[in-house]
Amino acid sequence: MAFVQSFGAAKVVTGSAHLLTLDNGKKILIDCGMFQGENEEKNTKELEFSSDEIDYLIFTHAHLDHVGRSPIMFKEGFRGEVIATRPTLDLASIIMLDSAHLMKEEYHWRFKKAQRRGEENMVSSPLYTAQDVESLLTLKKRYAKYGKIIHLQKDLSVTFHNAGHILGSAFVEIRFVEKGVEKCVVFSGDLGNKNDIVLPSPENLNETDTLYIESTYGDRNHKDIDDSVDEFKDVINNTLTDGGNVLIPSFAIERTQEILCMLKSMYKNGELPTCRIFLDSPMAIRATRVYNKYTDQLSQLCQTFLEEDGSVFDFPRLEFVKTPEASKKINEIQDGAIIIAGSGMCNGGRILHHFKHRLWNKKNAVMFVGFQAKGTLGRRIVEGAKWIELYHEKIMINASVHTINGFSAHADQSELIEWMEHFERLGNVFLIHGEEEKQIIFKEAIMQKLDKRVHIVEGGEMIYV
Ligand SMILES: [Zn+2]
Repeated sequence: MAFVQSFGAAKVVTGSAHLLTLDNGKKILIDCGMFQGENEEKNTKELEFSSDEIDYLIFTHAHLDHVGRSPIMFKEGFRGEVIATRPTLDLASIIMLDSAHLMKEEYHWRFKKAQRRGEENMVSSPLYTAQDVESLLTLKKRYAKYGKIIHLQKDLSVTFHNAGHILGSAFVEIRFVEKGVEKCVVFSGDLGNKNDIVLPSPENLNETDTLYIESTYGDRNHKDIDDSVDEFKDVINNTLTDGGNVLIPSFAIERTQEILCMLKSMYKNGELPTCRIFLDSPMAIRATRVYNKYTDQLSQLCQTFLEEDGSVFDFPRLEFVKTPEASKKINEIQDGAIIIAGSGMCNGGRILHHFKHRLWNKKNAVMFVGFQAKGTLGRRIVEGAKWIELYHEKIMINASVHTINGFSAHADQSELIEWMEHFERLGNVFLIHGEEEKQIIFKEAIMQKLDKRVHIVEGGEMIYV
């Protein structure tokens, strides 16, 4: 009998990796993501499955916590097929190469320090290199299109459906026949927020025997999007008119493009004070290029921008900051700057040097517009830290800190339940991709509203489907 094992995103948000093993021995891995935040050390542990036995690797979408460990699979002998949408593969390539680059830098830094102690042999090498990423991407690929059945072999098919989470994102419907009975397992991947500014809403499905569903925000509902947009505008307006600057730590993919669209809307409506807007993230600049390549998959608002201006994201105030030198030059600006920089959870990237130069000053504002995982610097600031240490310096947090929840790329509790209600036939429900305390609340809500059997998945446990 077929079974699923989760080797990540079980009672945690990151590290997605769900292995479906069929009766005939075929193995399909849904995502192979990096652990982030407090679970980061799990990345250095051996993969809990044999990479060379995997026949198909499916990417639901390109986020690091869904694709980030897959180059390790190539190193360990994976030579199967990779199945994803084209935008997902484009974005995944950017994300994985960036990850390889960061690991290489960290390795050199640790190596240098260890050398001084005569302990260079103790430094573990990076999990993978850019070459491993390139090699993974040369494997046989199948490009998924939303709603088109891909027949992998007799009695085994997969269909991708638009999840509205980030460009190219999908939930996947896997159908197979076992002992003459057709079965269906759906993996939600990450489901988008209906109010996403750059993407259409997630699609719906009619039936499944088994549903693996994410539960990132299973415990709560987002603030109203209109309130969030108002809050966003207020922070920008108040800070700029008071002579300050706005720092926006942002994920390179999706959130950045949403912010650009919001700022562009403000600009076009005459709501934006005089300012300079810096997109200070090479990765976000590359990601925006991918969004420009697939404009047909973007929202109505983006289509309107494209028709009116010939470009979805560009507008006169916006500057793309490519080099580190240009990034440092922003520090000379006294006021009137909006700085969008990575990393989204503030664990690295150019946002750190902007923090160093701006956090101590109460005129400035930091605006969090994305999820901050436990153990990240972003989470500490959101939770009210009075100071942080950066580059061996204590930096006071005097800037105002704002958390805007409505822009989540994830569906909230009511949207997740509404999405489940669209199934005319829904079998067992399994919760993945969420912090346990939130999953417990989500489980209660599903049982109450949908009268379904719900199970919170443990790492590694075999679940027969
Ligand atoms: Zn995601």
